[in-house]
Amino acid sequence: MAEENQNPLPAQPNPERKTLDDRAKMTELERIRHSCAHVMATAILRLWPDAQFAYGPPVENGFYYDMELSHRIAPEDFEKIEAEMKKEIKANNTFEKLVVTRDQAIKDAESGRLGGLAERPGNASKFKLDLLKQIPEGEPISYYKNGDFIDLCAGPHVMRTGNVGAFKLTSVASAYYKGDEKNPQLQRIYGTAFKNKTEMEAYFTMIEEAKRRDHRKIGAEMGLFALDTEYVGPGMPLWLPKGTVLVEELEKLAKETEFAAGYVRVRTPHLAKEKMYKTSGHLPYYAESMFPAIEVNEKGGTAAEGVEAERYYLKAMNCPHHHRIFAAEPKSYRDLPLRLAEYGCCYRYEQSGELFGLMRVRSLNMNDAHIYCTEDQFAAEFKAVNDMYLKYFKIFGLDKYQMRFSTHDPAKLGQKFVNEPELWKKTEDMVRKVLVESGINFVEVANEAAFYGPKIDVQVWSAIGREFTIATNQVDFAVPAKFGLTYRDKDNSNKTPLCIHRAPLGTHERFIGFLIEHYAGNFPLWLAPDQVRVLTLNDDASLIDYAQPIVNELRANQVRVDADFSATPFKAKIADAEKTRVHTMLVIGGRDMEGGNVSVRLHHGGPQGAKPKAQVIAEILAAIKERKA
Ligand SMILES: [Zn+2]
Ligand SMILES: [Zn+2]
Repeated sequence: MAEENQNPLPAQPNPERKTLDDRAKMTELERIRHSCAHVMATAILRLWPDAQFAYGPPVENGFYYDMELSHRIAPEDFEKIEAEMKKEIKANNTFEKLVVTRDQAIKDAESGRLGGLAERPGNASKFKLDLLKQIPEGEPISYYKNGDFIDLCAGPHVMRTGNVGAFKLTSVASAYYKGDEKNPQLQRIYGTAFKNKTEMEAYFTMIEEAKRRDHRKIGAEMGLFALDTEYVGPGMPLWLPKGTVLVEELEKLAKETEFAAGYVRVRTPHLAKEKMYKTSGHLPYYAESMFPAIEVNEKGGTAAEGVEAERYYLKAMNCPHHHRIFAAEPKSYRDLPLRLAEYGCCYRYEQSGELFGLMRVRSLNMNDAHIYCTEDQFAAEFKAVNDMYLKYFKIFGLDKYQMRFSTHDPAKLGQKFVNEPELWKKTEDMVRKVLVESGINFVEVANEAAFYGPKIDVQVWSAIGREFTIATNQVDFAVPAKFGLTYRDKDNSNKTPLCIHRAPLGTHERFIGFLIEHYAGNFPLWLAPDQVRVLTLNDDASLIDYAQPIVNELRANQVRVDADFSATPFKAKIADAEKTRVHTMLVIGGRDMEGGNVSVRLHHGGPQGAKPKAQVIAEILAAIKERKA
């Protein structure tokens, strides 16, 4: 049931109320950003004193504050709001914490004082009154005050408004209070804040560069994929020939790597009976993320006659099918570890509003595998999986990565986490030990494990420093038992194996979306859809006679090569090859021909000089084989 993390996108779910524990964990940057939301509210109230504020949390890359206000805020208003914010920062007011009784808080909210600069008779702080109701009995109620602004808030904040080093308002949107369309529609202003100006400028440069590298834009320029919502459906990309090259090169890499690591390959259908997903636990808990059932009535008769149609579901994950493969033949300890791999195609019913290019889709091809092993084998298997991630990072030049190790909370055994205290402890200890011993960069987060075992989310940073979660690696000690999977141990007893779910290359969709941005479409030779183009200086017959065998030889060696022997001016030929992002251009003129040479030119790399023909071909083949960066 590996929960493939498709995407953390700018779209923010409406916040659940943070617990005091969550709040204590807020990073310094989050405190700066949340404090900046208070500064923004202060500024807005100076301009529009009747504004009513609701939620104002920090979010990925910034903060927002939701408010009700008769004036419709437009980006043209940002400048004057920012000017007021600067005054508040310059005043360097302390964020003062005041603990109050519930009665006092209700009184202040009724007077309009909360989320205001002063009491506002006839304009009660209605959202704050509602938020007060959500604070559990017994939990302290606190205000934070900067200058005249008092807000109902549990904190934490930075010490003073002056600690907000740099900020910028970025956008305005509408949002329903608490994300519920039955509630009033509010205005949401987004902004971001940083410790200092330098960090903020670096961030905006990165955002600009990310826009330039947008996978949808480059995907269209290069002819990699198409989204045909009219005939195929939303969120189901069609891979065009050049995108298919990327898909198949990644599969080749995965298949070679997995073969070398002792995996075996399997293939499974795209759908299964309802019983499968009831057993796995996807139904009913995951039902809304699955396409609705396909009903098949093979027996004839109708529901009125008491004949029930059989229900099939498109698979949202590959694990249940793999479990049935494990169960298809009796197993003994000698069969373990058993590593079943498949580039499985799954379907998820993502909300249409959340679909986004290749990053969030409804059909996804996953670099999936399930490793069934004994407890004794677990540590070595888990380490091998991590080593595989590291190997891939190296190939793709990902120098910065982090593994986020999520563990359980003993207080929530039997509710949020399967009630196996011993196994939790044992597997978490083993995972931690492997991570520490391999010197892997990781952070540990309590209370975020999957229901059935600890998990690791793998975050990587692209060449321009943007963060992506690309893959999840999970331990599962509950679901194999639900499917009744057993192996016969040395002592002739039947035991349940542990299962590791892993997908280092994530899904083709998301991973290729990531790689397009990472490389800005300028893929390394082994991955480039257009690897080599042979260009003659002109259409002279002797040049073509010399060049054609080079094309033939490369093609015979599986190189994606084409030729441009036309009479088009040479500059234009080069410009066209550069625009197509052909990785290596082999240029042939009279002097090259006489010397038995070719002149090499690299996309974005310019001329590399002339070399003997045979040497150039050998170097190209070697670079592809080694998957040179
Ligand atoms: Zn799985
Ligand atoms: Zn606050």
